[in-house]
Amino acid sequence: MKIAIGEFHQETNSFNPFPSTRKDYEVFGIHKGREVIASVDPSCALKGIIDTLDGEGADILPTSRMWANAGGPVIKEVTEEFIADLSRILRENLPLDGVCLSLHGATQSSQSDDVCGDILETVRNITGPHTVITASLDLHANVTRKMVKNADFLCGYHTYPHVDFYDTGARAARLCLEGIKKDKRLCRGYATIPMIVPASSFTTLTGLFQS
Ligand SMILES: [Zn+2]
Repeated sequence: MKIAIGEFHQETNSFNPFPSTRKDYEVFGIHKGREVIASVDPSCALKGIIDTLDGEGADILPTSRMWANAGGPVIKEVTEEFIADLSRILRENLPLDGVCLSLHGATQSSQSDDVCGDILETVRNITGPHTVITASLDLHANVTRKMVKNADFLCGYHTYPHVDFYDTGARAARLCLEGIKKDKRLCRGYATIPMIVPASSFTTLTGLFQS
């Protein structure tokens, strides 16, 4: 099984007047190709993805890893850089059984309100319809129809404060493997839940949001 992995993270606040630039990503390191695997933190989603795929003996193809803190919209040259590197490596390694990405899910750029949808659409267009595409997301993702249309499975963190990065990545990787092996009958759906949780009680440690 040949499965590509990668990560692009940033939570965008579109009211923030300061754009996020390449420097905001350089703070955390920009990693490409083989460097991606050596760069991961033990508790992060991408590590959960790598360990799970490795445990099944998958042939892991690292692509690109770019991570930045929450901020204003990302300048388009940065998202274009990630998509260009990812696209090139995927094209050079076709056919692929799977692609498993760690994304935030609420990233905007100076050009697009749906960067994660753009990334997943790019991946789908390159790999074709039979490659299993999964992604881990933040609990605060704005999941769009474009994201759902172009991914087989999307997995959000279950906790806030976030303590399940690793488990969420592992789940996304497990679903990717199960989708490839077709040893479980998996189906997907898209539903909007009529719920808004105020910031002051947005915790899964207690109260209504916990239950
Ligand atoms: Zn979050």
